[in-house]
Amino acid sequence: MPYRGRLAPSPTGLLHIGHACTFWAAYQRAIEHHGTLILRNEDLDPQRSKAEFAAAMIEDLHWLGIRWQEGPDLGGPFAPYEQSRRRELYLQTWRRLRDGGFIYPCACSRRDLATSAAAPNEADDEPLYPGRCRDRITEAQAYDVPRGVNWRFRVPDGEAIVFDDLRQGPQQFLAGRDFSDFVVWRRDDVPAYQLAVVADDAAMQITEVVRGADLLKSTARQLLLIRALGLPLPAWYHCDLVRDEAGTRLAKRHDPLSLRTLRAQGYAPKDVLAMCASIGSRRL
Ligand SMILES: [Zn+2]
Repeated sequence: MPYRGRLAPSPTGLLHIGHACTFWAAYQRAIEHHGTLILRNEDLDPQRSKAEFAAAMIEDLHWLGIRWQEGPDLGGPFAPYEQSRRRELYLQTWRRLRDGGFIYPCACSRRDLATSAAAPNEADDEPLYPGRCRDRITEAQAYDVPRGVNWRFRVPDGEAIVFDDLRQGPQQFLAGRDFSDFVVWRRDDVPAYQLAVVADDAAMQITEVVRGADLLKSTARQLLLIRALGLPLPAWYHCDLVRDEAGTRLAKRHDPLSLRTLRAQGYAPKDVLAMCASIGSRRL
């Protein structure tokens, strides 16, 4: 299989140094493997995605010296490369999960979930779901379209999800403890990140996923989706996270160091890449 990698930024803000380091690593991996790199605009969230950020991310990646062979700006055999234009694929994927008995409609309100005993798990993106609507899996077939409720993937409680990460080494997450039934389609009729990414990586024949280590647990969820859908398995390479002097992950700060800011302060691309190279030995 020829190597195919991807850059998958969300246009919900300006790219910061953490993105730069991860995307540079993805670019280097593709070069090392004489492979193809694609740019995918992950503009699924209609409220938070902005066209000006999409334009800025392309310009910032170019400034950094990163080049790709397929993308929203270049076209390619797997177009469109904007997630907002790939809804039909996500709907097909939702139908396959529904028909396979893997997902169920969850009518819990935000308030129901907030008052349940399950506290958010560490700093993870999605709180543990208490499982109240699990039995509604029998109702799934009554839905022609996913609209109006959250749709959750029923995880196999107690199963250890294991994978070898090419950068972080062997990984293990326990379904039902480290993460639970996760949302694949949102109540506001937007496909969730996990579903869209799995559908796109398979459709675009991605062979290696390079992204930040904050998504290691997401990979466990995505492995369950990949298995349920019978899709080919990519390799995984999760980059170390950039932290500031206080040890806070840059992406979680309210004022992450954007490439625009660094550029305005006179930093050259090579200076940014030198910062990336020093991650781990020196904090920003
Ligand atoms: Zn529920």
